[in-house]
Amino acid sequence: MKRNITFFTLVLLTVTLAGQPKSVAGIPCQMEELTTPHFVKAVELSGGVCVIPIGIIEKHATQLPLGTDLYEARASAVMAAEMEYAVVFPPYFVGQIFEAKHQPGTIAYSNELMWQMLEETCEELSRNGLKKIIIHNGHGGSTYFLQYFCQSQLAARKDYIVVLFQGGADQELDKEIKSLKKATTDGHAGEEETSMMYFIRPDLVDVSAIGLESGASQGRLDRMPFGYSGIGWYARFPNHYAGDVAQPDKRLGELLVTKDAVQIAALIRYLKDNDDVERLHNEFYLRAEDPLKMK
Ligand SMILES: [Zn+2]
Repeated sequence: MKRNITFFTLVLLTVTLAGQPKSVAGIPCQMEELTTPHFVKAVELSGGVCVIPIGIIEKHATQLPLGTDLYEARASAVMAAEMEYAVVFPPYFVGQIFEAKHQPGTIAYSNELMWQMLEETCEELSRNGLKKIIIHNGHGGSTYFLQYFCQSQLAARKDYIVVLFQGGADQELDKEIKSLKKATTDGHAGEEETSMMYFIRPDLVDVSAIGLESGASQGRLDRMPFGYSGIGWYARFPNHYAGDVAQPDKRLGELLVTKDAVQIAALIRYLKDNDDVERLHNEFYLRAEDPLKMK
């Protein structure tokens, strides 16, 4: 099964790179490219599934663009929607990034705005018939915010569901990914991210600027035992770079984007094929409204 998906992915990737329009049955998957009549068809074709790839605008070492996470999340979401049709939400870059406010170019919105923006986006998608929402997070700093957002869906009855994509292992692709990796430290703006951008938009990677600043941990709070602090990231990586990438590897970038795409496509297919998540939400809401009555 996985082999077939992977093979299909690579064929599709070749087609995409050859400059074919990114659409299924003549209907683009990117919401901003749809006409209104096409949007109506897209809702039907997608089974009501919409993927919101969420990025951020922040420093990515010295070699990558501020919107790196946006490019990465969108590349795999669009590739996934081409394998299994879903609507892909327009570029979205509202997330948690307070820890990079000391770096030029960071756009850090307030907690209230972050929350309201995402909640109202989901409500608007639902009002337009897209009631199965997948969030694909491209930015590590938003991880807890997005998990909490999903948990909070249970606070009150909703007429839509929100599922956060969580990638896992891929028995085939992981072997080649591991064989291509050379960096010993690889985190924010490191080898994987630099390679992904080099695959997605090589013109935006300033290869000559790789390594201009250190991406090694400064360990300035390493002696603090058993504690988490918001300043912990800054204590380790004040340059907002965690890595020691020497050169980007386009094939590595292709594999990483493809791996996410294959798994997002599987999640889209699952949500299209059944209503288990909705059914369990509704059962839960009903019981929560009267816990004593519903035993
Ligand atoms: Zn990033």
